[in-house]
Amino acid sequence: MIDDPSPITHEASATARQTPTEYTFDPTTPEEWGALCSLGHRMLDDILEYIRTLPSKPAWREMPDEVRAALRESVPINGEGAESAYRQFSELILPYPNGNLHPRFFGWVQGNGTILGMLSDMLAAGMNAHLGGFNHAPAVVERQVIDWFGELFGMRGAGGLLVTGGTMANTLGLAVARFSDSQARGRDVREFGLQTWPGEPTPAPMVFYGSSETHSWAHKATEWLGMGNRAFRRVPVNAAFEIDMEALAVMIAQDRTDGLRPFCVIGTAGTVNTGATDDLRALAKLARAEKLWFHVDGAFGALAYLSHSLRPRVSGLEMADSVAFDLHKWGSLPFECACVLIRDAELHRKAFATNASYLATASRGVSAGVRDSGDANSSGEASYFSNRGLDLTRGFKALKVWMTLKAEGIHRIASLVEQNVAQSTYLAGLIKQHDELELMAPVPLNIVCFRYCPRTNSAANGNHSEVIPRHNKACHSLDALNAELLQRLQERGIAVPSSTLINGQFAIRVANVNHRSKTADFDSLVESVVDIGREIVLENRS
Ligand SMILES: *Cc1c(COP(=O)(O)O)cnc(C)c1O
Repeated sequence: MIDDPSPITHEASATARQTPTEYTFDPTTPEEWGALCSLGHRMLDDILEYIRTLPSKPAWREMPDEVRAALRESVPINGEGAESAYRQFSELILPYPNGNLHPRFFGWVQGNGTILGMLSDMLAAGMNAHLGGFNHAPAVVERQVIDWFGELFGMRGAGGLLVTGGTMANTLGLAVARFSDSQARGRDVREFGLQTWPGEPTPAPMVFYGSSETHSWAHKATEWLGMGNRAFRRVPVNAAFEIDMEALAVMIAQDRTDGLRPFCVIGTAGTVNTGATDDLRALAKLARAEKLWFHVDGAFGALAYLSHSLRPRVSGLEMADSVAFDLHKWGSLPFECACVLIRDAELHRKAFATNASYLATASRGVSAGVRDSGDANSSGEASYFSNRGLDLTRGFKALKVWMTLKAEGIHRIASLVEQNVAQSTYLAGLIKQHDELELMAPVPLNIVCFRYCPRTNSAANGNHSEVIPRHNKACHSLDALNAELLQRLQERGIAVPSSTLINGQFAIRVANVNHRSKTADFDSLVESVVDIGREIVLENRS
């Protein structure tokens, strides 16, 4: 593709003969230092101004075709300089994100990020600390934040790891569950995998359970861990979208009868569709009785545990063998950041540890292991974060977590979670009061699923208007109407909810993890939904 041999190489060798100049990415002269420094300050000023002025901007805008085209270029062989690259960033990239920083962004479950988190990421990148192992200050910080979360979630002493997201955090939890089971049956999954080797007995297929509302991470994880999609037993839910405990017990019994090997049950604290939380206490009890690993997916819901008033809604989380939660959703930290906690820290290590000679720890010096007195895992090996998951080279994610917890404190983080729940309850109230809006699922936490239902007679037409009866054959057109309504809401930059299906019907879905939203944003959301709904109904009539 690149037929031009790198001009840099040529130039470099030519220069090397004449002068002792050696290249570096750092500035080399006072002028270059000054220029990069002032560019850096400008970048900071610009991005802060961008964030400050967000509320007065549209929640989203379509990227024009010219911009899209301008971003598709041939490989830059010769650099054009940081100034030029930054100018293009400002013009072509910054104005066209998906909107998740905005006060009226409620789509999927995407956090806003924070300014302090951004600045911490900058410092972490500046340090460029390597968090594969060792016992330098950044490593102490990561262990500290994991310990803090262990304490906060009632799992003091748990092992853990900061990872890219909830998907990875959950997958690591399931991997340790799989390993734990293999130990229990004396067939090390790390040695044998899930294969049948000549002369070895055929292992019973492993199965695990989660409600049908479990997030799609579980599909990926079971496939990736070699168990296959069939191993994930989807348990029906009740009217509140919580796992049906009776059905679960029946499924486990049947699977055992059929010669399968149940090894884990997943509870969700805050399902992605409706924010439902399974009966985690009952699940913990059942898991104990059935000798199953109990994993909790608390991607966003786990953070409700930090609030005294909300804790009862996700209680039982503290009884889990492993918990996964995101910090880039309800924790508002910049992407990517999540955490997995494994109650048995030693088991966690055993599930992943390797002993590569080039990673050996020493008793002194840079590669010295953990020396904190009182640390339960005070072996050198345990100080390696690379022995707690898959990544070896890892960045200093822990800094933004540490800075945020130190600067804001758990109280404030919990208050923002409470604020989002209160706003969601408020929104649900507005929907219930409005006779053209239908709430489609209970609102136990911060997710509101609803739709626009036109009256059978136009409002202008008389007083005896009626809402279309639920679940009748008009539903198909209601799906289309609401899908169109959602598009207009987004395209006009008014607000960005996303959508889902609730009992097979299209729902506008508001997931509120937004620390920038105000109550008035929900008032205007409801007004706009009704206005656009009426507009579409009128168009369809004419
Ligand atoms: C978002 C989410 C996940 C996946 O987390 P990522 O950080 O997006 O990888 C898993 N479970 C639930 C309930 C979620 O909401």
